[in-house]
Amino acid sequence: MGVARFSLFKIASSHLHRMHHPSALRQMSFASGLQNSTIFRSQGLIGGQWVAAHDGIWNFFRFNPSTGEIIADVPFMGRRETNDAISSAYQAFNSWSKLTAAERSKYLRKWYDLIMSHKEELGQLITLEQGKPLKEALGEVSYGASFIEFFAEEAKQVYGDIIPATLADRRLFVLKQPVGVVGAITPWNFPLAMITRKVGPALACGCTVVVKPSELTPLTALAAAELALQAGIPPGVLNVVMGNASDIGDALLASPQVRKITFTGSTAVGKKLMAGAAGTVKRIAAKFRNSGQTCVCANRVIVQEGIYEKFAEAFSKAVQNLQVGDGFTEGVAQGPLINEAAVQKVESFLQDALSKGAKVILGGKRHSLGMTFYEPTVVTDVKSDMLLAREEVFGPVAPLLRFKTEEEAICIANDTNAGLAAYIFTNNVQRTWRVSEALEYGLVGVNEGIISTEVAPFGGVKQSGLGREGSKYGIDEYLELKYVCLGDMNRK
Ligand code: ADP
Repeated sequence: MGVARFSLFKIASSHLHRMHHPSALRQMSFASGLQNSTIFRSQGLIGGQWVAAHDGIWNFFRFNPSTGEIIADVPFMGRRETNDAISSAYQAFNSWSKLTAAERSKYLRKWYDLIMSHKEELGQLITLEQGKPLKEALGEVSYGASFIEFFAEEAKQVYGDIIPATLADRRLFVLKQPVGVVGAITPWNFPLAMITRKVGPALACGCTVVVKPSELTPLTALAAAELALQAGIPPGVLNVVMGNASDIGDALLASPQVRKITFTGSTAVGKKLMAGAAGTVKRIAAKFRNSGQTCVCANRVIVQEGIYEKFAEAFSKAVQNLQVGDGFTEGVAQGPLINEAAVQKVESFLQDALSKGAKVILGGKRHSLGMTFYEPTVVTDVKSDMLLAREEVFGPVAPLLRFKTEEEAICIANDTNAGLAAYIFTNNVQRTWRVSEALEYGLVGVNEGIISTEVAPFGGVKQSGLGREGSKYGIDEYLELKYVCLGDMNRK
């Protein structure tokens, strides 16, 4: 998981902890404005109650990745709390799933409205705990909220089917019903949107959820959950636990009451969860992150030979203009990486590429701001056998690869176990279709790099995942089909 700043400490209560740690108290000043906000929560949410860890003594610090300041301490939960959350969700499922879609839709709409009316605070919280520039964080709030709004409407469109019967006295139909309790495990790169994209459709169609946000970004998840409570979403419908990831994951996997696991994160953890889900034959939907701090960032840029040099130069010039700094500073386009381990990963990938003949034409080192900051970097002469071209870069490094023909470009693009997003730039209509069809990716952008939206299906192929999120297809992941056959229908 690579959590560099993950410190566990024993305290009597989170309140007492602050009194006993003056240095922590001092460092909390920056976050204090937000801490007084009505959406700032630092405990788990189980059955509608804000709770500490069971034994009440283990907590862990959360840090601002830009400054290293402590911004909160949150309970370090494990199996017991997760099982409590599952029980609450299981109980709540009974009544939540029986509401009409229109009733659930009203709650979700209210939740959406509250998220949007707290956009500023939520955006600040995202920048504070995740580091991305405030403008991007505010964008994430709107993007994240859009899934709640979209699925509030979509819930009312969950039609079943009537199947023409094969015998005269039969009537056959298919019902779509919520799968039950859903376990949702999310990463830190989009602390809000990765949650709403799962929780929106789940709640809309009648499922209840136990969310385990990333340990690096629990505060946004807790704030969103607080707003769900304020929207009147009943206790137990949405629960949040955090702490020991593998213990929480194991509890979710082991419980027969959890009918589905939805996960976004690394391929390694995704595979573990898929294997673990087999024991209770759970449904799984998983999207595995492939690159950088945003899973759909270009991991490799493949450029045609004839324009390679010119492109590299123009591209570096544009990248050079990106301002690096604290996410709260106006004009900053690139914030810190999430932690020091992420910086070390970038360094080791770059080292590997340089040792195999690649050249750095921009950046290539830690930023003078220090800590978790890294210079925007452009690398040329990258070859398919370099780590930079094979695995997730995890940072602000653009490797430029070279191709001659269209076939070769497709071959390079498809030569990977990942398959989330690909982007092509061309003015040729025939090529647009040919290449879009040939790319082994779940999403393709043509002459456009920003393509995620709540109304289109998002998800990868190969080891980039199973299932789709968003769009009318996204809700199917949370529904079971039930075939009903009525016999003896000719009787009077
Ligand atoms: P990364 O840390 O690189 O974003 P991970 O796959 O490690 O990617 O993390 C994604 C999510 O999966 C996080 O919420 C993390 O806590 C969780 N996670 C990590 N290990 C496990 C595990 N063994 N079981 C369940 N969840 C896990």
